[in-house]
Amino acid sequence: MSSETYRAIRCDRTTPTGDRCDTEWSHPVAVASFAELRRLLAERGWKRRTGRDICPTHATEEPTR
Ligand SMILES: [Zn+2]
Repeated sequence: MSSETYRAIRCDRTTPTGDRCDTEWSHPVAVASFAELRRLLAERGWKRRTGRDICPTHATEEPTR
């Protein structure tokens, strides 16, 4: 019996009205760590911004603050 961890990262961008982007991405195979997952995300246009994960859709926007 084994258990594998499938990590998912979700876009942390929130709008001024408090709505949250629901874009989520997880790798189809287990990755060793969130650092590894974020490296894979970065290849797909995700950004880290002030400790938050931002999906490609919002990565091109100006920071909300
Ligand atoms: Zn987003």
